[in-house]
Amino acid sequence: MGNNDFNPVSLIRKKRDAESLDNDEIRYLIKQYTAGDLPDYQMSAFLMAAFLNKLNEKEAAALTDAMLHSGTILDLSDIPGKKVDKHSTGGVGDKLSLILAPIVASYGVNVPMISGRGLGHTGGTLDKLESIPGFTVDITLDRYRSILEKHHMVMAGQTKEIAPADKKLYALRDVTATVESIPLIAGSIMSKKLAEGIDALVLDVKFGSGAFMKTQEQALELAKTLVAIGKKAGKETIAYLSNMEQPLGYNIGNWLEAKEAAEALQGNGPEDVMEVTHRLAGTMIYLGDKAASIQEGIEKSEETVANGNAWDTWLALVEEQGGDTSFLKEPDTYGEADHQQEITASSDGYIHEVDAYNIGMASLELGAGRKTKDQDVDPAAGITLHKKQGAAVKKDETIATCFTNDKNTFGIANQLLDEAITINGDPPEDRQLATHIVDENGPRIL
Ligand code: URA
Repeated sequence: MGNNDFNPVSLIRKKRDAESLDNDEIRYLIKQYTAGDLPDYQMSAFLMAAFLNKLNEKEAAALTDAMLHSGTILDLSDIPGKKVDKHSTGGVGDKLSLILAPIVASYGVNVPMISGRGLGHTGGTLDKLESIPGFTVDITLDRYRSILEKHHMVMAGQTKEIAPADKKLYALRDVTATVESIPLIAGSIMSKKLAEGIDALVLDVKFGSGAFMKTQEQALELAKTLVAIGKKAGKETIAYLSNMEQPLGYNIGNWLEAKEAAEALQGNGPEDVMEVTHRLAGTMIYLGDKAASIQEGIEKSEETVANGNAWDTWLALVEEQGGDTSFLKEPDTYGEADHQQEITASSDGYIHEVDAYNIGMASLELGAGRKTKDQDVDPAAGITLHKKQGAAVKKDETIATCFTNDKNTFGIANQLLDEAITINGDPPEDRQLATHIVDENGPRIL
């Protein structure tokens, strides 16, 4: 049957009745929708049917493939060496891309990173990069290739040529309550990543209050779907599950995170940030054929931070993309936000929760995130935590500092922080940061 011979109503009915669609049927829906020949109301009905009745692994792979082929697929095969990227499903204080990309590139593994902006309470790599004065993520495809060849890494924003079907579908899902579907999320993520022309991919699938997937079970299912799609596309794909109950590191907000990432590359990174960074970077070094095992990759990741190579790689890349490295070398020269406010402990005890979702929302309110799609972010806005889960505190001790250029935001931010940070008489139980690895052999507990 040719692509034009399907009746969209029959395909919607099929999914409504929980039957599965074949590759041609899914390709037809995506192609017609991207071309503007299938109206939003029919695609909305299909999305809701897919949300409620789910897509099986084969359908999810067909959806990804159709979205991937809706635009340009970069061919980087003329650039020597493996191309390996990382994708995080989104979190709070997650500045890992700015640390692990130079770590991996310092071994000659190519990292062709295309990133997104902040979404809701979660931060975005592009906003963090742009907080470095002069840094541009808006580059042509030719320049993208030449930077990658020269530095083994490049950091850019998504162009309209990459997976245009996802862009259109994501906007529709956003307004039809169909975002939180595992196969739809997996298709959306993987179509964009596979369009980058990568050989291998490492995924950081978050769970907990600050993540899209609130439970470990949901995250595990998403990780398995992502890995299965990667495998079907012939790309080595390894996923980790990591805890996003509290933010990563001590800083949330664009410049604050770029600064913390720079400190991490100079050997002064927070313990949780470095644990996840080395695990993901080590896996990328392994997949890039520069280590015989993930463990050896982790050791190499630690080594390149210790000997300064990763830091030098970062400075060279930032300079190449127009960023002023003097601020990274001397962060005190960066203009601080006009207003600061300290949050103090209400009693003696131990920090029990530093709820990532509320911290992310407080940071957004202070100006670090967007309430509408086209809003500008304030690079200097955000939160520095002085204490994290498990730390002992005394009444009136400072536990966080808020930064903003709009002091009217302090009221709501304080309220959110009040809800986010709880203090108890007893120390909380230790929580494991990374809990599972998922590869083509299935999931294993770490
Ligand atoms: N991130 C994406 O890129 N797509 C989704 O659907 C959800 C998170």
